[in-house]
Order: sequence, then structure tokens, then C-alpha cells
Amino acid sequence: HLKDEVFVGSQVLIPFGNQELISGYVVALHDDLAATQFGAERIKESALQADGQVVTLPKTRPIVEVLESEPLFDRAYVSLLHWVAEYYAAGIAEVIAAAIPSDIGPRIKRIARLAVPANDTLFVQLPRSFEPQEEVIMRQLQNAKSKVVSLKTLKQRSALTQSKFYAALTRLRQLGVVIVENENAAKAAPKTVQCVIATGEPGRTKKQQEILSALSRAGGQLPVSQLSKTASTTASTIKKMCSDGVLQVTQQEILRDPLQSLVDKHASVPAPSLTPHQSAAFSTLSEQLTDILDHGRPVEGPWLLHGVTGSGKTEIYMRLIEDALKRGRSALMLVPEISLTPQLAQRLVGRFGNQVAVWHSALSAGERFDTWRRLRAGQARVLLGARSAILASLPDLGLIILDEEHDSSYKQSSPSPRYHARTVAFERGKRENALILLGSATPDVATHRDCVAANRIVLLPERVFKQPLPKSVLVDMRQEYVMGNGGIFSLPLQEKMAQRLQRGEQIILLINRRGYASHVFCKACGFVVRCRNCSVSLVFHQTAGEREGRLVCHHCAFTATSWRTCPACKCPFIKQFGLGTQRVEQEVADLFPAARLLRLDSDITAKRGAFEEVFNTFASGGADILIGTQIVAKGLDIAKVTLVGVLAADSAFNLPDYRSMERGFQLLTQVSGRAGRGEHPGEVVLQTYSLDLPALTLARKQDYATFAQQELASREAFEYPPFSQIIRVVLSSEAIEQVEAAADQLAEELSSHLEQDFTEDQVKILGPAPCLIERIRGRFRYHLIIKNLAENRGRTAITRFLRTRRGQGGLVMAIDVDALDLI
Ligand code: ADP
Ligand code: ZN
Repeated sequence: HLKDEVFVGSQVLIPFGNQELISGYVVALHDDLAATQFGAERIKESALQADGQVVTLPKTRPIVEVLESEPLFDRAYVSLLHWVAEYYAAGIAEVIAAAIPSDIGPRIKRIARLAVPANDTLFVQLPRSFEPQEEVIMRQLQNAKSKVVSLKTLKQRSALTQSKFYAALTRLRQLGVVIVENENAAKAAPKTVQCVIATGEPGRTKKQQEILSALSRAGGQLPVSQLSKTASTTASTIKKMCSDGVLQVTQQEILRDPLQSLVDKHASVPAPSLTPHQSAAFSTLSEQLTDILDHGRPVEGPWLLHGVTGSGKTEIYMRLIEDALKRGRSALMLVPEISLTPQLAQRLVGRFGNQVAVWHSALSAGERFDTWRRLRAGQARVLLGARSAILASLPDLGLIILDEEHDSSYKQSSPSPRYHARTVAFERGKRENALILLGSATPDVATHRDCVAANRIVLLPERVFKQPLPKSVLVDMRQEYVMGNGGIFSLPLQEKMAQRLQRGEQIILLINRRGYASHVFCKACGFVVRCRNCSVSLVFHQTAGEREGRLVCHHCAFTATSWRTCPACKCPFIKQFGLGTQRVEQEVADLFPAARLLRLDSDITAKRGAFEEVFNTFASGGADILIGTQIVAKGLDIAKVTLVGVLAADSAFNLPDYRSMERGFQLLTQVSGRAGRGEHPGEVVLQTYSLDLPALTLARKQDYATFAQQELASREAFEYPPFSQIIRVVLSSEAIEQVEAAADQLAEELSSHLEQDFTEDQVKILGPAPCLIERIRGRFRYHLIIKNLAENRGRTAITRFLRTRRGQGGLVMAIDVDALDLI
């Protein structure tokens, strides 16, 4: 009977467990449960027991209510989400939650109230006395001021366990004394304003006629307040016109758009003519786009635009977007962190006006709701977003761009689904026949290798105005120390800084740690102050207005304030060591008291809008020196920056995992790329304690080709990606014995399971071993690192097996396919 109301993408209310109703999305429709493509496979998979036996299928349940018939997405989209779930061994509900923010759809709040107005006599009138638990619930409902309480609140206030609470509530409902209902708690809904339009009746007076023509000049429809301003009249005059039948009131929806202020200001910005290099790159890519969009050529893989920093990649993106739009297709442009690229939204709006939409976590519920509907309706055809935008429902997709494709923030490491936007982009591009374009100055070595092999690469070897890449020097800090300089700035860096300040040019300093000092330890007994919940040392932070400072855990935010004496030996020789952004800021202030400083790290950017503020101040010349963590390496395009100093360049390479060389190389190349973008050439000073790191020397020379070659050779030797696929499984529990035992057992079972179909060379299981950070937030962590050399067949076998091993008493298992974070 719901056939005409329920579609894929509709939102419905369904019974869950014994009592609860929950809202959900329809992801498939079918006549026969067992025969569905997804249903049957999913159910079998989740029902597969440890011994490999299929248990009984779950029962079907009726849909209680159709909340919203109009689909929020379509079948092809659901199929993509299923692919993500399958590839990353995630639940489809987790993928939907990542793709479709909960505040988009209507949400249901379950509320309870007394059937009879509350008073004490109720208890007397009832034929039986209540059980204690029922009485608790009755009292709560009687005490509730509004007489209506959400089930969630009621359950909290009653302090009963889940099952006891629902059992008691059910009895009360059966007795007819408590009523439970749904309340539509939609967070986001269309926003409307009252407007007036002409009815077609002529104005009765000269004034009325004037108002009518003012209205028609303004497009025929305006809110009352605006009309009275535009026609310089009063609200009562307009009301009179309504009662005269000359005007009538309508509700007009207004779309909330975070880019509105940019759109309002926007004056169409003409495209600059391309440089010869840009022209060559663009014509190759544009040809590809034509082949795919006009001739339906299947998409085989991504193209790489490898262009040095400042070579004009964004201009090429915009030309291609224009091409896609001309053909009636839409375009998706991803950037690592959208809040860090305020210039980009501006450039896109300058070119494409109100066709541009943005998608990121800082949108309000209303903005998100309206953006989603603008995309669905085809009103917004260029979507700029961070990682999760790859999961947005965007019809007629013709082009997917990932700028700074090497950036690891494209991979979600927690929570599940642990997807990589680039991997999803491949799949999506193939399915929807869209050109996939990856751009970077420092491509992921795996991307580079694949694109070179497939001959899908275009180069921009020079900056737009042929500005030279900055000159870079390495300074040996051990040598500085021997020469009597024990400070954090080498003499060459100090000299160059003084010179820039004098010339009124700008400086960026990179230090890869926030806070003041990296750790605190006792010079008398060697005690290092560690977190209570995590196996890491605490970081010293100096907070404005606090004399003492505090010690903070960067994993769980545990904070200790009094640490002036050693907790172990009680002596006062406890001291801070290592460098953080705050200490650098202080030392720069001591060294150059007149310089205007800004700091940029995640302590600062935690405040909404703070990044833009710091960025705008620095970009407009309101400060001389910007000190920050890797945030300052990303995307800043500021002409007056002519010096970049990296205070501990070797520390970029220090994280113990297989990508540390690549990450260090990328960071140093990117941060160096901030210098010398304007008319004055740039310089870079890399301070280090180890001169013999080959990657450091290559980063200094910005020699990507040699770096990639060496890096790939060492990856191949150790069978790291792209020569294998890494699947990581992290087990955690509050009880160390439990994790240890579970990890051992899992490794054993997995290896015997794989033995049948794979040789030892095809799938290798490393571990179990404690994670590098063995304890986080009070939970002990063990992991298995699986190297899969058997491609899809290997991955499927591994993830299928792992899926059968989920969640047992207090133990949590996290599966990470293509894991980047191995710590
Ligand atoms: P990338 O993305 O490669 O770092 P951008 O696209 O940001 O480089 O370009 C760097 C600067 O050069 C920007 O300020 C941009 O507006 C400008 N630019 C790019 N292409 C041209 C061109 N063809 N003519 C003039 N200026 C350009
Ligand atoms: Zn901690």
C-alpha cells in the first residue's frame, strides 16, 4: 500500500528492537528479500558466523510511516555508497552517515506524556499499584514541567537500564496511562519569507501605481519591508493594497548559502590568457574531457597535473570546469581543508557566480540542507569541498578535481568508513563517466608512478611569471652549537630575518609542533611527565593570562596544571625541552621586539573563523612574521613572503612509518613554495641536526624526480605501497590481557583462513604487536598490519573474514583498508 510513496532515497520510520522507532533512508526496494542484490549479500555476510555457517535471516518489519517521500538521492548513488562500504569493510549505515549529514533529513523525536492530566490522585484511581520501575517513570512524567518528555531524557532521568526502562514503559502504555508519540524534530527545513506580488488589478491611486511599478522593476516579488524601502512607502500602505486586492501575500523560499556574501560582491572576473605551459596542459586535458563527455569514452584512470607551486594549476581547473558546465555537466573540486583556502572560493565565485556551492563540516544545518537541495535540483553545479564532498549527491557529474592530491587529510582515519577521497573519486569517475584530475606539486609517489606508466600526466614546470623557485640552504645546527650559538635560530636565519624586516617583506616560520615545548622532564631523576590515559608525554602550553602554563595531552586533552616539582622525586629541577610554536613565538619576540607576529596552529584554528582572520591580517600586510605548524605550508599565496624558515627540518622525517620520507619531502617542498611568489625572489632556510638525510637534500633542491625514484625503490624493497596494499586492524580494550589474547587469536585465525587460497607471498600478516602509542584514552591498543599482494581477491578475502569478527564485550576492532596512519 506504500508503493506510490516509498522510493529509494525516501525517509521512513521503522520499528527497531522492541519498542523504539527510528528514522532511516530507503536504500533498495524489491519484491523478494532474499533475491536482492544488496539485501541478500549483506544479510548473509552479517549473519555469517565464526564457523562459516549462515544463520537465520532477520525478520522483515513493516514501515510505520513515510516521513518524506521525495527522494534525497537515487539508486546509482546508493550503489556508490555500497561500494564504499564494501571496499572499506564498513557498514552501509556508517557510509550514509558520512555522506548525508543527519541534519539534512527530518528527524524524529519520541516523546512521552501522561494519558490523564497529572495529579496525585492518579495513583489512587489506578486499579493496580505500580512496580517500582514504573513508578519512577510516572513520577518523572508528573514532575516534568512541560508534561512532555523525550524518551531519551526520560530514560536518563529514570536512571534505568535500557531493557528495564522499555519493559516498564511498555507496561505503562498497555495500561493506558502513558502515551508515546512522534514529534518531528527536523533541525533543518526550508526557510521562507513573506513576500508580496501583484494580483493584476490596476493600482487605485497614483501612489499605488508607483508602488506597483517599483515592484515590477524589482522583479515582481519582494518582502514587505524591502518593498516599503524601495518604493519609499510604509507597511500600512502596502497592507491597504493587499486588502484592496491589488497586491497579494505569498511565501517565498530563500536559500541559505554560505557563499552569499561573495556572490553579492561578485563581479565577473575574466579569465587571464594562459601561459604557453598552461595552454599545452589545458589542451591535453580538455581533449580528454571532450572524449569522455562528448564521445562517451570510458574512464580508465585519473590524470595527473604535476605543476610546481605557483604554476597556475587552479586556472586550468577553472577552464576545465567551464568546459564541463558548457556541456551541461557538473564539477566537483576537492581541496584538503576548505577553511585553509579562503581565496579559492572567492576565485570560483568570481568565475562561476552562484553556480558554486561549498560543502564542509563548518556549515550550519540550514546551509547544509539548502546546499544539498540546490545540488539535487541542479542549481549548484560546481561543488567545492573537503574530503566528504566526494560522497555528495551531485547529478550529471562530468569532472572531479582533487587539488593537492598527496594530502593525507583526504583519508579519513577515524571513525569508519575509513575512506580515501581519491580512491572513491576513481570509482565515481568510472561509474559516472567523469574526468578525474589530480593536481599537486608533490604528487604521491604511487599516483605519479601509475600516471606516468599510463601516460596520463601533464606538467607545469614553471611558475606563472617564470619567478624562480626559491633558493634553499641547509644549516647544520650542531655546527651552530659548536660555534657558540645555542639558541633556536641559526645565524644565517637571524640575518635573513633582520634583512626582510628591514625591507618590509614577510617571513613564514615552520615548526612542526604546537604548544610551547615538546615534553617536560626532571633533570634530577629523568622522570618524563606522561598522560594518565595515553602512553605519550604531555606537551607544555603557555596560555594567555596564565603565569604557570599547563601540560596538555595531544591525544585526549588531559591537562595537568601544577608541575613545578617532579612528581617522582619532588625536586624542583623539572624543565621543558623541545620546541613548539609558542616558544618560537616568544623567542622571535625577544629577538625582534618591533616585528609584528602572528601564530597559526590548531590551538588557534580551533576557533571558528580564526584562520581567516589570521590569514587576512597576514595577507594584507598586517604582520611581518607568521609562525605555525604544517598549516602554514598549505596553499598560502602571498606575494610579499620572501623568506621561509624551517626550524627543525629533520623532525619532519622522524615519524616511524613507511611514508615518513615522503611526508617530510612534501612538507618541505610545499612550505618552500610559499616564498618568492611575487616580484622578489624567495629564500628558504632549513635548519637541521642531521645533514645526511638524502630526502632532506632532495627537498632542498626540489628534485621531485630523483626523490620519487629513490622512494619507490625502497618501497619496493620492503613491499610497501604501491607494491602492496596495507590493511591495518587495531584492537583495543581497557583490559590489556583481553586485547593481547584477542589479537593473538585473530592473527592465528586469519592466517589459517587465508592459507587455503593464498600463498605466504601473497598475503603477509605482521604482528600482532602493541601499537606505537600503546594506550589512548585509557584503552590499550594492539594491531595487525596485513600486506596484501593479491589485489582485489586478497582484499575481499581479508575484509570478508574480518567482518565476521566484530565487537565482543568491551573489545573494539577497527579495520583500516589502505591505512596511512600506522601509529
Ligand atoms: P597553483 O595552484 O599552481 O599554486 P595558482 O593557480 O594559484 O597556482 O596561480 C598562482 C598565481 O598566478 C595566482 O595568483 C593566479 O591568479 C595567477 N595566475 C595563474 N595563471 C595566470 C595567468 N595565465 N596569467 C596571469 N596570472 C595567472
Ligand atoms: Zn592523553
